Amino acid sequence: MQPFEYASPTSRSEAVRLLSPRWGETEALAGGTDLLGLMKDYVCTPKRVVSLKRIADLRGIHLVPGKELRVGAMTTYRELTENESVRRHFPVLIQAIERIRSEQLRNMGSIGGGMLQRPRDWYFRLGYGLLPEKDGQAMIANGDNRYAAIFGNSGSASWVSPSTIAPALIALGARAALYGPRGLRVIDLDRLFTTPAQPGEREHTLRPNEILTEIIVPHREGIRSAVYEVRQKEASDYPLVLAAVTLELRGRSIRSARVILGQVAPVPWPSHEAESALVGKTLNEETAEAAGEAAVTHATPLSMNRYKVQLTRVAVKRAILEAA
Ligand SMILES: Cc1cc2nc3c(=O)[nH]c(=O)nc-3n(C[C@H](O)[C@H](O)[C@H](O)COP(=O)(O)OP(=O)(O)OC[C@H]3O[C@@H](n4cnc5c(N)ncnc54)[C@H](O)[C@@H]3O)c2cc1C
Repeated sequence: MQPFEYASPTSRSEAVRLLSPRWGETEALAGGTDLLGLMKDYVCTPKRVVSLKRIADLRGIHLVPGKELRVGAMTTYRELTENESVRRHFPVLIQAIERIRSEQLRNMGSIGGGMLQRPRDWYFRLGYGLLPEKDGQAMIANGDNRYAAIFGNSGSASWVSPSTIAPALIALGARAALYGPRGLRVIDLDRLFTTPAQPGEREHTLRPNEILTEIIVPHREGIRSAVYEVRQKEASDYPLVLAAVTLELRGRSIRSARVILGQVAPVPWPSHEAESALVGKTLNEETAEAAGEAAVTHATPLSMNRYKVQLTRVAVKRAILEAA
C-alpha cells in the first residue's frame, strides 16, 4: 500500500476541510471494506485518508412515523437490520441487506459506503479506470463482458452499479444529504449516481470534498415493496440481476409503481416501461409477467450477457408478486 496521511476529525466541517477539491488526492474512510482493498491494489492511492468514524452525528436511525426515516451515513448494515422500526416499517431494506451474505461486511459496512462503493468491474479493479479502452476500443464491450450492463452500455463505462441496497432505497423515494464547503444539499438518491463521460470523472455526483451525511426515506403506510435478486450461488458475492419494486394499491388495482433494476446498468436503472405496464392494472400474475417483459424492451445485451435479459424478466415478475 502506498504510504498516506491518516486524519480522524470529529466534526463534518473539519472532515470537509481535510478533503481535497480534486479526486484522487484524498479519500473518505467509512467501514473500509471497499476502500482498503482498492488501496492495497493501488487502484486508489490517496495522499490522505479522512476517517469519518469519530464524527458522532453521522450515525443513528430516526423514524418519524408517517413522515420519514433518517439514517446517518456511518450507520452499519447491522445496526439497520437490528432496528425495530426499520424491521417493522421497511422490511424491503432488511430483505436487501440480509442478502449480503457476509457477517463481516454487515458488521463493518456502512450505509454511506454502500451507496458510494466503487464498481466491482474487473477492468476497473485491475487499474484500467472507469472508461477502459484499448486502441480506441471499449474493453468491456470487446472483452469478457459476462457480468456487464445490458442497459446504458453504449459507451466504455458498461460495468454495473454495485450497490444492492440503492435500488430499494430509490424505489422508496429516498434522498441523500451531502455536506461540503458550501454547506448542506439534499438530492434525490437516484441523482447521486451517474455514468462518467470523461477520464477523471466518478460514478457519483458527490464532489471530492463533500461527504454523504444521511439517507432520508419517506415513510408512507400501505406501500408494498420487495426486492428480488438472482444470485449464481449462496456465497458472498454480488447478484447477477435484481429488481426492487414499490406498489401503491387501491384494492387489487395498482395506483402507482416504481421498478428499479440493479446489476444491469452503470447506475441503478429505473424501468419506466415496467412501471407503465403496471399502473392502472389489476395486480395478478399476468400483470407481473407483462411488466417483466416490458422491462427488457430496450435491453442491449453484449456478446456474453444475453442471459441477463431473461433474469431481468424473472426478477421483475417475482419482485412484483413478492411485494403483492
Ligand atoms: C465479497 C464481497 C461481497 C459483497 N457483496 C455485496 C452485495 O451483495 N451487495 C452490496 O451492496 N455490496 C456488497 N459488497 C460491498 C459492501 O457492501 C461494501 O464494501 C460496503 O458497503 C462499503 O461500506 P464501507 O463503510 O466499508 O465503505 P468504505 O470501504 O469505507 O468506502 C467505500 C467508498 O465510499 C466512500 N465513502 C464511504 N462513506 C462515505 C461518506 N459518508 N461520504 C463520502 N464518501 C464516503 C469512500 O471514500 C470509498 O470510496 C460486497 C463486498 C465484498 C468484498
